[in-house]
Amino acid sequence: MYPRPFHYHRAASLKEAATMLSELGEEARPLAGGQSLIPLMKLRLASPQHLVDLNFIPRCSYIKEENGTLRFGALTRHAEIENSDLAARIPILHDCAAGIADVQVRNRGTIGGSVAEADPSGDWAVALTTLSTEIRCVGKNGERSLSLAGFVTDAYTTALAQDELVSEISVKIPPKGSGGAYLAFKRAAPVYATASAAVQLTLEGEVCKDVAIALGCVGLMPIKVKEAEAALRGQVINEKTLATATEAVRTAADPQSDMRGSVEYKRTLVAALVRRAIQVAMRRGRGEQVEVGPIYA
Ligand SMILES: Cc1cc2nc3c(=O)[nH]c(=O)nc-3n(C[C@H](O)[C@H](O)[C@H](O)COP(=O)(O)OP(=O)(O)OC[C@H]3O[C@@H](n4cnc5c(N)ncnc54)[C@H](O)[C@@H]3O)c2cc1C
Repeated sequence: MYPRPFHYHRAASLKEAATMLSELGEEARPLAGGQSLIPLMKLRLASPQHLVDLNFIPRCSYIKEENGTLRFGALTRHAEIENSDLAARIPILHDCAAGIADVQVRNRGTIGGSVAEADPSGDWAVALTTLSTEIRCVGKNGERSLSLAGFVTDAYTTALAQDELVSEISVKIPPKGSGGAYLAFKRAAPVYATASAAVQLTLEGEVCKDVAIALGCVGLMPIKVKEAEAALRGQVINEKTLATATEAVRTAADPQSDMRGSVEYKRTLVAALVRRAIQVAMRRGRGEQVEVGPIYA
């Protein structure tokens, strides 16, 4: 189906885009990679009267390292992150970027568009939840920074004002001895995951010094499983502590039954994904190179 007619506007800077959004009002939406917005418009589930295109704004697509932080311009494509040696310094980011849909979607879709969309099945917010992540936003009157937890407020809902844009996503590089993994279980490449798990942990010898665990597609927003983290933090990770952590994951997951599986199936699935992700994260934390990708049904 064709989208309803709309007016197309091209912004030359993020500030100009914010001003345009403010002047055009509620019926205007920013356009990044178009990989969520355009399909919604074609299905007529969204019918904005104005699109403000961000794609021609210079210097909005970059990956930089500064003072122990990786900074991603909002317009950075999933594929650029997948292929970036800098981003590979945080392997969980590479896992996430490389597993999103197919090459076509990864070549167009952007990290900024993904976090702004706040799709409960999206991958980025889940992986980024396990890291120290800040979202930089720009409006016509200035800029502000929000933690990811403060940015995503509900399914498809963020703290962004109607005329505010994501300009940058920044992530602290985890300390030495830290390893992470993002695993998604999918029916096929170009579909969203049935469930996903992100784990970032820091080992000190055999002891898990710190850990962050997040679940995707099993709730309205990424679920950070504090009980599972508490079961591992300060402990040796063994069958006993893993069992306690994965039981906490089963309890915390809040999935819907749908064509991808029942509630019970998804709880079991996401607990198994967390277990595997912990094992990969531990190996990476010890310095091993471990390749992982989406697991297909
Ligand atoms: C076939 C298919 C399969 C997919 N599978 C997956 C998948 O497995 N996992 C996954 O995570 N995603 C998947 N996606 C979605 C894809 O990752 C999109 O790239 C992403 O959701 C949105 O990014 P975008 O740049 O395309 O944003 P757009 O579609 O352009 O915009 C999305 C929303 O964010 C707003 N927006 C965009 N940029 C900004 C900004 N800088 N500031 C404020 N608001 C902004 C737009 O107004 C719109 O509301 C899939 C898409 C398709 C078409």
